[in-house]
Amino acid sequence: MDVDGIAKASGSGDLFLAGEWRAAADGRTYGVTDPATGAVIREVSAAGPRDSAEAVDVAAEALDGWRTTSRRRRSEILHDMHAAMRDHADALARLITLENGKAYRDAKAEVFYAAEFFRWFAEEAVRIGSSFGDAPAGGFRHLVRKQAVGVTAFVTPWNFPAAMATRKIAPALAAGCTVILKPAPDTPLTALAVAGLLKEVGLPDGVCSVLPTDRAAEVADVWFRDDRVRKFSFTGSTATGRILLRQAAEHVVNVTMELGGNAPFIVCPDADIDSAVRGAMDAKMRGGGEVCIAANRFYVHEDVADEFTAKFGAAMASVRIGPGLAEGTELGPMINEAAVAKIWGLVDDAITKGAKVAAQGPTPDGPGWYFPATVLTDVPEDAELLRTEVFGPVAPILTYRDENEMLKRANDAEHGLASYVYSGSLERALRIGDRLDAGMVGLNRGLISDPAAPFGGVKQSGLGREGGREGIDAFLETKYIAVDWPNIP
Ligand code: ADP
Repeated sequence: MDVDGIAKASGSGDLFLAGEWRAAADGRTYGVTDPATGAVIREVSAAGPRDSAEAVDVAAEALDGWRTTSRRRRSEILHDMHAAMRDHADALARLITLENGKAYRDAKAEVFYAAEFFRWFAEEAVRIGSSFGDAPAGGFRHLVRKQAVGVTAFVTPWNFPAAMATRKIAPALAAGCTVILKPAPDTPLTALAVAGLLKEVGLPDGVCSVLPTDRAAEVADVWFRDDRVRKFSFTGSTATGRILLRQAAEHVVNVTMELGGNAPFIVCPDADIDSAVRGAMDAKMRGGGEVCIAANRFYVHEDVADEFTAKFGAAMASVRIGPGLAEGTELGPMINEAAVAKIWGLVDDAITKGAKVAAQGPTPDGPGWYFPATVLTDVPEDAELLRTEVFGPVAPILTYRDENEMLKRANDAEHGLASYVYSGSLERALRIGDRLDAGMVGLNRGLISDPAAPFGGVKQSGLGREGGREGIDAFLETKYIAVDWPNIP
């Protein structure tokens, strides 16, 4: 299937509700743009409160049928979905690049990563465990069951249009939950294509609805007023996460929150510098740096700072920038004009306060929301970009001499999502890893995301984990049944 075919499968931008493609109840639409040109690529139906309320009705109606579908059958549908995404990897990757802008090679990697959630949770679906035991005092028994939470609602961001959706959808379906997804306004087409494929592989109507919209708050508000929505899972900024957490409190809704990051990338004096540079490129440049686990601050030991800066600077300056679909592109445009303005603001602030541009790649002529790969040195501690997620291809390098002092600076952040350590000594790397305030640590690795591992943060980076064994637990309630069974010892 080509991009147009996938676009057709995504209903040419209509809402996916009750297993069918539909216009919004009030007929509203909005335009989705291509970040490489700034041009509108498709008008998409914009869900409103009426559609949102209907999606809850539909999800509630479908719940009993889905949670009582055998685990084996649920697992088979997820396996088929994994295969379907891989079969359509090229078309899905093109769609991601079209609406998000990221380089095609990153988009392709995202599709395989996104598909893998279906395989992992297909394998978990049949292993949801229950337990049975004796009360210590005797006289009765404990039966502990894991049951689907119920109707779930998701809000996802634009930086991984496929993977942020499947990371939530796959475990929810595996657990027996029904789903309503509101994708980011900038990137709804990929999520709609995922919905189209789910229908193709036999997911029953109403089990998963997708509601694109440019009026997020109105759509989400409906869920928080409806007692039937029992789980809310969000990936996005900490600021929006706080608002949604407050709303979720009203009905004490079970939440998973994947929020912002501000990852430190630590290069120890005994690190293999070439390997650290490769890891830094991975951790900084995947998806153009528009990634919540992107390395945001580089702490490099003084003894190796010159060598690391020279080699990393050379790699950054030679990054091939251009439209994501152009042959050989490594860095595509940023998501929109405001994102570019925000990154320039952070870089200008650092330079005004004394930072120097150690390396910078080119910016293409012509349209599109580009930001050049940039390395900054001599960055002062009060520079705003050390406190704020840059969400772009900018790498500030800071040096350190003393490990304890460096750890204090690295941990001095409101976020605690990812972190990276490069060292030739496992003992040193583990020691530093243990002391970092982060939910995830890459030791001599710049790529850490894996559907089979628990992804999530501490501090203001969020609550709960996605992926791994933990990923399905987030969609299960524990029910304890005390069984009165007379005449047992
Ligand atoms: P960004 O600034 O990168 O867009 P956000 O956290 O604002 O990050 O957006 C992430 C997701 O949250 C998007 O899908 C967006 O539409 C949604 N969102 C933003 N504000 C709200 C809100 N008040 N209620 C529900 N969803 C929201």
